[in-house]
Amino acid sequence: MVPVRGEGCRLWDDAGNSYLDFCTGIAVCSLGHCHPRVVAAIREQAGKLLHVSNLYQIPQQAELAREINTHHVCLPGKVFFSNSGAEANDGLIKAARRFGHHRPQPDGSPRFEVITFLQSFHGRTLGSMAATGQTKIQEGFDPLLPGFRYLPYNDAAALAAAINPNTAAILLEPIQGEGGVNTATPEFLRSVAAICHQHDLLLMLDEVQTGFGRCGDPMAWRMIAPELTPDGISWAKGMGGGVPIGAFWLSDRTIDQAGTPLSSLMGPGSHGSTYGGNPLVCAASLAVLQEIREQNLAANALLMEARIRQTIHAWQLPVIIEVRGLGLLLGVHLDPARIPTPAGKTPALVVVTKLMEHGLLLVPAGPHTIRLLPPLNVTTAEIDEALAILHRVLSDF
Ligand code: PLP
Repeated sequence: MVPVRGEGCRLWDDAGNSYLDFCTGIAVCSLGHCHPRVVAAIREQAGKLLHVSNLYQIPQQAELAREINTHHVCLPGKVFFSNSGAEANDGLIKAARRFGHHRPQPDGSPRFEVITFLQSFHGRTLGSMAATGQTKIQEGFDPLLPGFRYLPYNDAAALAAAINPNTAAILLEPIQGEGGVNTATPEFLRSVAAICHQHDLLLMLDEVQTGFGRCGDPMAWRMIAPELTPDGISWAKGMGGGVPIGAFWLSDRTIDQAGTPLSSLMGPGSHGSTYGGNPLVCAASLAVLQEIREQNLAANALLMEARIRQTIHAWQLPVIIEVRGLGLLLGVHLDPARIPTPAGKTPALVVVTKLMEHGLLLVPAGPHTIRLLPPLNVTTAEIDEALAILHRVLSDF
């Protein structure tokens, strides 16, 4: 399939076929394709200034960081802009290492270990791949960057037992997107926060897939355990609506008696990116985030989630085991025993391929789960149209 044009929830291929796009470039096109406000912002900025070095001030970066801090994170901190989610996570990993130097072990040796979780996905760079708790992502690329430990997700006892003198930080997704749409429990997130507090560790959230309204709140962790105050956060995907931008955020909270803010550990000269946060992508991202906020699209995500869950529940189809996730990051977990699967394919891929033949684009999440990631401004009519296709295809199994 070769997509050549998109508008809102629709995509057209080079043969003229149209699709309802509930894949959205894997949770990227949060306002659908070619949203007029985003297109206008890109056109306007492109006519003024595409790119300058970070050696100079970039007002669009400052404005975007202010939008993020004031309206989306709502905690004091600083933002560094990158080009992707993997790079944003590399930034968090570097911050964890800096923190481990700043607050070393009693004998003065730096702490460096970052705890992550099985089935997590943090990206494909050497750093973010090493952070990823899936051997299939790492196969053939060893030796991996050292300093990571992978633990079972939602298992607070295993986490408490794994903390050791080298541990510097815990990094996790509030909902594991690629790993099968697994949602952290409120108890687990609270335990993670308590363990971080007890052992002087950084609490770092990967909101690359979940952030900016997709899960029903600007930040997904607030849907699960709103009282959490993370030390670091990474984003990408939906924040740009289609332009390549990512970011990591560090809290301004003080980390020693001298009052050093955590965010100052990554000061000028400690990190960099030629393209990260250039005027063009920042102008586009600002338009995306303002539209999400002004139209209250996080609330729309929750309304649509309710509609999807109710409809699927009413079908009572034996091939559907359960629906997981929050807002418009939803996984339909399928019974593999009911899906004839040729060698080399997964049941999820078989179903996604069939859905595409019927004009609906979805994406697998792990071998047995299909993921619904419609744009946040999706309408009830589009949801109903997609669900009708899903019902037709799943009824065959
Ligand atoms: N973190 C999470 C949770 C993701 O889902 C992804 C991509 O799927 C990444 C990081 C990596 O982002 P990117 O592909 O932009 O590097």
